[in-house]
Amino acid sequence: MRVNKLRAVLLTVALASLMSGCQSTGSQRYLAQFKSDPAQACYDRATQPYTFVVDAHAHFRPFGGEAVPYSELIGYFQPAGVLFVNVFGIGQMFSAQSGCQRFSLCPKGEIKPTIRNDVINASNALLHPSTDIHLTLSMSFANLSEPQRIVQQMTLLDDEFGPAFTWMGEVNLVKQALFDHSHRATDPAQIDDWAPFMARLRSPDSGRAPMPLSIHADIGSDLEPTRYLFLMENVLSRYPDNPIVWVHMGLSREQTKLDPQQHIAILSRLLDTYPNLILDISWRVLYESYFRHAAIREQYVAFFNRYPKRILTGSDFVAAKGYKLRDYRREVEINSRINQYLSDEAFRNIALGQNYFDLMGLSYRAPEICQ
Ligand SMILES: [Zn+2]
Repeated sequence: MRVNKLRAVLLTVALASLMSGCQSTGSQRYLAQFKSDPAQACYDRATQPYTFVVDAHAHFRPFGGEAVPYSELIGYFQPAGVLFVNVFGIGQMFSAQSGCQRFSLCPKGEIKPTIRNDVINASNALLHPSTDIHLTLSMSFANLSEPQRIVQQMTLLDDEFGPAFTWMGEVNLVKQALFDHSHRATDPAQIDDWAPFMARLRSPDSGRAPMPLSIHADIGSDLEPTRYLFLMENVLSRYPDNPIVWVHMGLSREQTKLDPQQHIAILSRLLDTYPNLILDISWRVLYESYFRHAAIREQYVAFFNRYPKRILTGSDFVAAKGYKLRDYRREVEINSRINQYLSDEAFRNIALGQNYFDLMGLSYRAPEICQ
């Protein structure tokens, strides 16, 4: 008995000293460092972490089955150096009618957007207010193919939770990964019918800043590289005044070989044409298929340095039950590797969060980079 206890104590001490040596994952960051203040300390890139401080893409709810308990999950962020988090549900779940909980058991089970996750997330946020991180609640329920009820459901959430939600997404315009689960690309004719909810996102009640909309829209696939690009272009040209976040820069597991030059040309053209378009560089697929290769990475780094105010960071972590702090930390680190190569200006805006603070009208301020 006694030996076991001693062993447990020793193990805890060993683990604690291991963790404290873990500089690169940013365990020493606090909200106070991001308070706008004349005495704000500068950020030393040589000794402080390159990991991002904003996770603008975190799924608190899985496709099916149980999630990491909320009270445990909100304890993952600060130790990973992340202080600002978008609380996404998920754009689709196995429908109640499908009787499914797992992909492995239901390779063709029907998946649909649902308001369930938003209610659960907002309820949890009310129950467990957090002081060491800043959370942004996001409505993930919107079915872009059935836009008629979206405003009504936004009102329902606002009535129930007060004006707690300040973002919408991640919602799916076209996501090939779900084609086996009854999801289809949004019919372009439907995009006109988004007008009422897009207007409400632009000017929500209660003096909130315009609510950004995070959209998953595959550009195409390795077989048809730009097959779906017209859909995102259609949205941008129809709603140029809405802040729209294009997640994963339009890439996906279905498209791992897009020519970087062609991709960057498409994105540059759209960023130049639509000043309210923002790119989200979350998801490890971007690292594994693109940024990992030095020659490709250099092209994207040069691109981000050219558009330092138009990029947001994120993990695309999906908090399915069983995932631990170390899993979240790993996603943050992998998705942050590209930050090491950014110019100081881009690093401050992107990795240290200034773009996010500007977009959300938050009073926080990214520290200047030490010279
Ligand atoms: Zn996602």
